[in-house]
Amino acid sequence: MSAADALSEKGIACTIFEREASLGGLAGSFRVGGVYLEKFYHHLFTSDLAMAQLIDRLGLGEKLEWLPTTNSYFVNRIYRLSTPLDLLKFSYISLFDRFRLGLLYIRTMFVKDWRPLESITARDWLVQMAGERVYQAVWEPLLRSKFGRYADQVAAVWIWNKLKLRGSSRGGKQEERLGYLRGGFGQALDAWEALLRKRGVEIRLNSPVERIVIEGGRVSGVVVQGDFIPYDRVFVTTAPEIFSSLTPDLPGEYREQLAKIKYLGNVCLVMQLTRSLSDTYWLNIGDPSIPFTGVIEHTNMQRPEIYGGAHLAYISRYLDPREPFFNLSAEELLEAYLPHLQRIFQGFQKGWVKRVWAWRDPYAQPLISLHYSQLRPPFQTPIRGLWLCCMAQVYPEDRGMNYALIYGRRAVDEMLATA
Ligand SMILES: Cc1cc2nc3c(=O)[nH]c(=O)nc-3n(C[C@H](O)[C@H](O)[C@H](O)COP(=O)(O)OP(=O)(O)OC[C@H]3O[C@@H](n4cnc5c(N)ncnc54)[C@H](O)[C@@H]3O)c2cc1C
Repeated sequence: MSAADALSEKGIACTIFEREASLGGLAGSFRVGGVYLEKFYHHLFTSDLAMAQLIDRLGLGEKLEWLPTTNSYFVNRIYRLSTPLDLLKFSYISLFDRFRLGLLYIRTMFVKDWRPLESITARDWLVQMAGERVYQAVWEPLLRSKFGRYADQVAAVWIWNKLKLRGSSRGGKQEERLGYLRGGFGQALDAWEALLRKRGVEIRLNSPVERIVIEGGRVSGVVVQGDFIPYDRVFVTTAPEIFSSLTPDLPGEYREQLAKIKYLGNVCLVMQLTRSLSDTYWLNIGDPSIPFTGVIEHTNMQRPEIYGGAHLAYISRYLDPREPFFNLSAEELLEAYLPHLQRIFQGFQKGWVKRVWAWRDPYAQPLISLHYSQLRPPFQTPIRGLWLCCMAQVYPEDRGMNYALIYGRRAVDEMLATA
């Protein structure tokens, strides 16, 4: 959408082919009681200026709220870890280790050059910065739960960027502030889609591209629902693995390079509840026996009244999409999670759950491994007229809607400059 926005602004004709029935991909929504809710939890950081500007441009600025949110960590119980004072009270680790953990957050803010962090793993860097005990108690479980068997391959760049992003999205009293579009980001997608259509962008929903055709070393078009449609340029925004499977005639060496980029999938169980689970918005799970990565209670950021009084919580699990767990239904996920939810949230009962939905995507988070700048494919592919702009190219920043906007425009600029 960002690329189509940039092209149509310049009067260049383009078509969006979207496999699904609506636009948005991972940032897409469904409706709860008539109100948009993201399939996967979404918020903005105060540094996400491109998103804030887009929302303004779409006339939705007054609905963008910057809200105080709380962060907690579950190991043997829930520890609130939102402010420096919470950190001081984090009795799961010794006082000395609390200082080391606090110092890690502060030192992260002063790291300006990410390049040296490309050649050290997150594990080694965190141990260097805060010690083995802090690593084992806090970081190891979090990295393991997000990246599974790839946890030891994650580069320090990724964790540094995550810490910096979350640490800088704070108000005057050091409390975290996150941005949300009251009524759901789906409203921005709708308004953006309408704007693009008005400018003449053709948007074809339920239209999976089946093949990208290359003739004589340059792209000649795409095949959709069995029909060949000619184009002089094709701009691909899917994960590299999908791109590769759609384009059988890519050069072998380039294809091998793309195959080195690994992704984690994600399954999100969304629960509509009659009551709140806790007072935390973002709960990280640090107990490896629990089969999910985090619990994000959306209505601890947004008011339940917006959703007719319903409390809404996401249970997120990152995993290899080949694991059978990836395909469980919403009801099966709930059954698997129930004993763990009862352990985490005092008094929790199945009867609190009114309704569940499950959303899943095999390409949810690229694995940012060592020397990723060498792995990251450029926007321009070896095929003339064929461009790639996807989440796996967002680097050293981490994937997010804000960077989808920035990178989409950047890739279009580069494409037009090489025309
Ligand atoms: C669990 C989770 C939480 C997140 N939380 C946040 C957050 O809080 N804040 C934030 O800013 N970002 C968040 N993100 C990231 C954000 O959703 C993405 O970075 C953003 O949506 C950009 O994604 P993308 O367009 O690169 O990829 P995608 O959203 O994956 O888009 C790819 C698109 O290609 C389509 N497609 C695939 N194959 C075909 C085909 N053959 N033909 C046609 N179309 C095809 C797909 O349907 C999809 O629409 C989160 C992501 C996840 C998974």
